This record gives sequence, structure tokens and C-alpha cells, in this order.
Amino acid sequence: MISETLAELTAFSNRYGADGNCVIAGGGNTSAKEGGVLYVKASGTALASIGPDGFVRMDREKLGKILDKEYPDGEKEREAAVLADMLDARVPGSVGRPSVEAMLHGLFPQKYVLHIHPTLVNGLTCSEDYFRVGRMLFPDAVFTDESKPGYLLAMLCRGALDGYRAEHGRDADLLFLRNHGVFFASDDVSGLDRLFCAVTGTLDGLIRKRPDRIEVGGEDRFCAVLQALGAANGRPCVTMLSGDDIASWDPECGSPTPDHIVYAGARGLVFDREPDPAALSAAAEGFTSRTGAFPRTVAVKGSAVYVCGKDPADAARIADIVKDQVKITVYAWNFGGYHPMSPWLREFIVHWEAESYRSSKA
Ligand SMILES: [Zn+2]
Repeated sequence: MISETLAELTAFSNRYGADGNCVIAGGGNTSAKEGGVLYVKASGTALASIGPDGFVRMDREKLGKILDKEYPDGEKEREAAVLADMLDARVPGSVGRPSVEAMLHGLFPQKYVLHIHPTLVNGLTCSEDYFRVGRMLFPDAVFTDESKPGYLLAMLCRGALDGYRAEHGRDADLLFLRNHGVFFASDDVSGLDRLFCAVTGTLDGLIRKRPDRIEVGGEDRFCAVLQALGAANGRPCVTMLSGDDIASWDPECGSPTPDHIVYAGARGLVFDREPDPAALSAAAEGFTSRTGAFPRTVAVKGSAVYVCGKDPADAARIADIVKDQVKITVYAWNFGGYHPMSPWLREFIVHWEAESYRSSKA
């Protein structure tokens, strides 16, 4: 028998996870509190299919203490020490690795927390007018700037949420993270739904230009050329994305959020016009020797983006991410224009991603 809290948590996680506009490539996470325990999504599970066993049980007191502790200044040393303390904050017998965002979930006193990266919301968080328009539309929300993930993001949010509490005498239930996503918090699931509808409804009402012209699939001459090259380099599955939104997208405009880098790479190969096979091959070889891997995306400006996956599922995931990226830039147009992640953060994520990939292989 599972508790009603865990049953409710599982149900709303599945419901939001199944909505392709809310959750992209298995991202996002959810939690619930029951007494001294926080149930939080385990890292590597997808909300759409998560069951009650997919949640890690954390000791709320121990989890809260992490943010009061002194950690080493070095990036790697600090994140390793924080991870060790996070694992140690699990209730004995609970297995699985808590999401790096578990600390953020613990910051909210409300019973249920939903953290997602909806495309429309990220149109705002990845826009030039994020702070100005965001605060005007949602005066009761907290807005944070870009941040490195993990411990530093949790610290930034703690400061912002504490500030809100001091100023307003109550807890915030809506937290926007620049170039990342949003947190909703409520004591009941219907409250989460109300918040979600209010935010998406308000944003949607302001949209004058919306993304609706992306075609996935189909083949052209270049597809076959790329397929042959990808096959020789471990990325044989090529999916073509085309349509007006793709044609007017600048493939060099920069990634919107850390997740986009993790799944699709910070940058793929970009051509001003369709290259001949020899030029493509030379460019791909240069890319591979520079970055250590065959490009996940190849863009021909004004025409199409080709996604190169290890298998069909990988190609579908990267295609979803690219689509999301393009849609975010279109939505951001409505909020003063697109604001990509800053170069310092992009460099950090690229490095961090390579690092975590290496450690996952080790
Ligand atoms: Zn997130």
C-alpha cells in the first residue's frame, strides 16, 4: 500500500510528463512532502512513466542542512561533496540518485512541487524582457538570473525565496529561473494545476507570433549524403527538420538552456549553403577532432536542420530538443527577443557535460 501523497505525486507526475509541451526529453522533476520525508524524482527517470518506486525518499532535515554547510571552493570538489551529502540524506533503505534539483524542492514548504521546462514558459525565461515583463505579468512570483546548476542554483534560489518571504510575509509559490524553467508549489495538486494554467494562459494570451511550422521527417539528397557519413561515424540515423520556422532560425544563436546543450550539443555543424560531399566530410572531420564526437546536428542556414542519432530513439530525442529550441526563439520574439545562455554558462555546461559523460563511462 502506498500513501495517498505518493499516489497523488505519481499521478500528477505522469500527467504533466505526458504533455510534450511541458516535458522535453524526460526533463523536469516533481516532489511531495510527508512528515519529515521528501519524495523526489530519481535522476534518470521520466515523469511520463514514473511509478511510486521511481521516487527517492529524502530526510528533509538532512537535505536542508546541506545548504547551511561550508563546501570547498573548487567546482568539482564541491559538487562531489554535495552529491555525497545528498546521497547521505536519503532515508535508510531508499535507493536511487536524487535529482540535482532535489535541494530546490526542499526549499518550498508547500506539500507538492512541480518543476518543468515548458516551451512557452521558456519563451519568457529565454527572452530579453524576462525580468521586466515577467514581474509585470506575475507580480507574486520570484525571478532568478542564470546560474550554474546544482548547489549554486539552490543557493541562489534560497536567497531569492527568503527575500520574498521577508518582504511579503508568506511563501512564494511560483519561481522562474532564467534560461532554465519554472517551479510551481502548492499544498494540493489542484493548486499546482491552477498555477500552471494561470501562467501558461497569461503567456499564451500575449503571443502574437507562434511556432507552428516545423516539419519532422522526409528526405532530400543531402540526407542520404549525411547518412552515409554518419553511418561511418556511429551516428547513422538522420532525421530532417524543415519548414518556415526552421528556415528562419539562426543555428548560431546559442542554446537556450543547459538541457539543450546536454541533449543536442552546444553547437553542431553550420553551413551557409548545402555543402558538397567532400566539404561536408572535411567539416565533419574537423568538428570531430575539435570536440571529440561526430556532430549531433548539421544545419544548412535558411533551409533545414539534420539530426544525427546513434539509433532512432536518440535521433527522435535530439529532434525534439532542436524543435523545442527553435520554438523557444519564436516565443521569445514576443517578449523583446531571444536571450541565449551567457557564454560563461555555456562553456561551463559544455565542460560539465563532457565531465559527467566521462564519469558515466568510467
Ligand atoms: Zn530544471
